[in-house]
Amino acid sequence: PSEKPSVLQVGRLPPWLEQRLNDEFDITLLDRQIDRAAFLRDDGARFTGVVTSAFAGADAALIAALPSLQVISNFGVGVDRIDLAAAKARGIAVGHTPDVLNDCVADMAMGLVIDVARRSMEADRFMRAGRWATGGGKSIGLGRKVSGARMGIVGLGRIGQTIARRADGFDMAVRYHSRNPVADVPWTHEPSLLELARWSDFLVVIVAGGAGTRHLINADVLQALGPRGFLVNVARGSVIDEPALVQALQQGVIAGAGLDVFENEPHAPEALFGLDNVVLLPHIASNTEETREAMGLLTLDNLRGHYFNQGQLVAAVPL
Ligand code: NDP
Repeated sequence: PSEKPSVLQVGRLPPWLEQRLNDEFDITLLDRQIDRAAFLRDDGARFTGVVTSAFAGADAALIAALPSLQVISNFGVGVDRIDLAAAKARGIAVGHTPDVLNDCVADMAMGLVIDVARRSMEADRFMRAGRWATGGGKSIGLGRKVSGARMGIVGLGRIGQTIARRADGFDMAVRYHSRNPVADVPWTHEPSLLELARWSDFLVVIVAGGAGTRHLINADVLQALGPRGFLVNVARGSVIDEPALVQALQQGVIAGAGLDVFENEPHAPEALFGLDNVVLLPHIASNTEETREAMGLLTLDNLRGHYFNQGQLVAAVPL
């Protein structure tokens, strides 16, 4: 048997990271082709570590099938697909990749704000269809001004604060909603999400996912945001009641939406595909060469810390 620690890889990771993981650990890939139940029954006891991603996670059944498990390292900051209660009950450490992706996710949130308000994606479709020329130079309709507008941020954590600083640079008025006010920030806490939605031109969602925030953005919040308001979601699809959002967009209850995440990825509601007032991205807010490299190194460092530095993860999820 190998002297390297036995680590189960759940789902695919960037090729360079898989290479590095294989250099330092005895990695077995659990992908969709494998009969999971049979494999775990025969081999589950061998693994002391799991490396996974925000897409693959580690649910209660997987954790239960790994009796020797000590550490889970997640490629991504959001751990809503990892059963943290199960990990905590067994004393399993969970590592993730906070902070290194703040910039890129915040950049993309601002990108979605601009794209949906200024109608740039719609304009791109208009150009590609040749309609500027065939229409004799008549352009698309007017957009809405971003600079100086009101931005309400739902969730003022690491990424939320990074978005707020960018909004400051656009001379926007910023308020935020979270369960607890954040100390030492210049932005106003709004204890009522409905009030924040009512006040906002742009409501940007960047809370944690999971049961605690499921369908936080419901029909009432969309109603409060209103026909001049835009919704941007770079958090998790589960935070939004998606059928209610589709209806709100179809019926003009809100002005538009920019969405990076969906409830049932990789599927997005087809009803959105024909709407010009939505910008749709396939969960790419952290997808840059620079940020993916930093996330991969932190994923690796968390495992190294556990195995080779007395269980000291560089970035552990507080359990
Ligand atoms: P943080 O933990 O730093 O911030 C989470 C924020 O959510 C806190 O302000 C918290 O405040 C708030 N929050 C949690 N629960 C609730 C609730 N029930 N109601 C209102 N506010 C709530 O996380 P990050 O900023 O690092 O990341 C946020 C999320 O962004 C991640 O969990 C992940 O799911 C998502 N993400 C998406 C990416 C993408 O590719 N689109 C990439 C990276 C992250 P309080 O506890 O006071 O309520």
